[in-house]
Amino acid sequence: MDCIFCKIVSGEIPSVKVYEDDRVLAFMDINPLNHGHLLIIPKAHAATIDEITEADFLAVMSATHKLAAAVKKALSPDGMNLLQLNGKAANQLVPHLHVHIVPRWSGDGLTVSQWEIVAGDMEKIKGVAEKIQSEMGNSK
Ligand code: AMP
Ligand code: ZN
Repeated sequence: MDCIFCKIVSGEIPSVKVYEDDRVLAFMDINPLNHGHLLIIPKAHAATIDEITEADFLAVMSATHKLAAAVKKALSPDGMNLLQLNGKAANQLVPHLHVHIVPRWSGDGLTVSQWEIVAGDMEKIKGVAEKIQSEMGNSK
């Protein structure tokens, strides 16, 4: 498959690795949004959250938790953004699931998003919650 992150997993494309286990690989982002920006991916190809297995997703999240602690110790950031985009509509560029860790420092000038806070229609919010909740009931 012509997937850039699968090629990083296989070693066909070089990367600066920071962590690896049997399910997961973490490497530095080559276009860092900030000092220490890194990516955590499953080794098995899955484009998005709705394609990845629960076991692989949990492995990615567990590695993310460990890496966040390592980033905190190594770089002493004031904060961290975890980003995980799914689908072109959500601005995902590389269609192989990945979690970004972006270390943040007060006043670093980086803006992740500036979504306007607008109060929602509570009837609409409750309606959509019911729809999601009923799907949860259908899942194992
Ligand atoms: P997105 O799909 O929008 O969540 O972002 C994809 C990320 O992958 C971007 O931050 C890119 O800089 C990064 N990226 C793309 N190619 C490589 C590569 N060969 N090595 C490391 N990072 C990469
Ligand atoms: Zn892939």
